[in-house]
Amino acid sequence: MKKLIAAMIILSVGALTQAQEPKDTTSKLPKPTEAPISRLMLIDTHSHLPKGLTLDQLVKLMDENGVAMTALMPTFYGGNKPDGQGISDENLVLDFHRKRPDRIIPFMGMQRPVLLDKGRWEQPDAMAERLLRFTESQLRTRSFKGVGEFILCHYPYSYPSGARGETIRIPADTPLMKKFLDLAAKYNVPVSIHYEIDEESLPSLKKMLEYGRRTTVILAHNGGRPDLPTLQTLLNEYPNVLIDWAGMTHLGGYGWTSPPPPPRPTGRGVTGGTWVWFVKNPIEDGKGHLRPEWKVFAEQYQDRIVGIGFDGAHPEQFFVNTEGYKMALAAFRSMLSDLSPGTAEKIGFKNAQRLFGAIGAK
Ligand SMILES: [Zn+2]
Repeated sequence: MKKLIAAMIILSVGALTQAQEPKDTTSKLPKPTEAPISRLMLIDTHSHLPKGLTLDQLVKLMDENGVAMTALMPTFYGGNKPDGQGISDENLVLDFHRKRPDRIIPFMGMQRPVLLDKGRWEQPDAMAERLLRFTESQLRTRSFKGVGEFILCHYPYSYPSGARGETIRIPADTPLMKKFLDLAAKYNVPVSIHYEIDEESLPSLKKMLEYGRRTTVILAHNGGRPDLPTLQTLLNEYPNVLIDWAGMTHLGGYGWTSPPPPPRPTGRGVTGGTWVWFVKNPIEDGKGHLRPEWKVFAEQYQDRIVGIGFDGAHPEQFFVNTEGYKMALAAFRSMLSDLSPGTAEKIGFKNAQRLFGAIGAK
């Protein structure tokens, strides 16, 4: 079962170009001059709901770290089984949202064991069709503000607790993905995808994006961590593509700037274990600041970076590493401090607010 536990962290958010009519809540927000980086409001656009995390615990973390809202994507792997990492169904995320619509942005989760079967993507079977029907029935209620994170191309990793993910390489351009893209376009919600871009995976992604131009696609983890020119080309070619910075600090799974341990550096509350994380085009310098070239990029593409993301998909990211959330948010703040105030605000919260359209505002 543990092999099925692929932990991913991505946040899907709809394209800023969506035909949504966001309410203007900016008047309630701090003005740039009044908001030094330590007080900048943040929206976490890519977090997960793993097993055991309660609404009170999450809101407390958010309050303590200046996070106004969190886009919450359920993790299903293993469900509530003893060795499971996730939850059983999407109702818990909806429950969180109903109780705190001002804080929780619910996503229709796609980290499902049923989607780990490559053949199912190529040739959608009865189970795939069932999931498509279920997804449409859920989107029809308009409760969910996004779909994802889809785990299509993911490198292997492990956590000290034993949670691990094997290599996943599902091409982006498949009949099943096209059906999900169509559904997301129909209900005007963004799709969040974990898709590591490399030589092998890029051609299929382009085909998929070509097909899905009507759908807002959030490529998680700085667009799947391609090199800078590749990311620029993608963003220029596909205006419907957004990216997020989920897990992109040196503390997160996708921002390593030096070969990861074991053991991982102290201070994150975790030592030991077999860590298999790939280091790939980090945007952060290992000390909480943006690398110069990515700083220029962020200014240039300030409207396309939907936001930061804690990306905690495993219980231990909350309960073992109890300082992890605080440290990650501090690192994101530090990265945002490298940017002009206007860009920091956009990536900190304004782009997400625009995308989600003041979801939950009373
Ligand atoms: Zn991810």
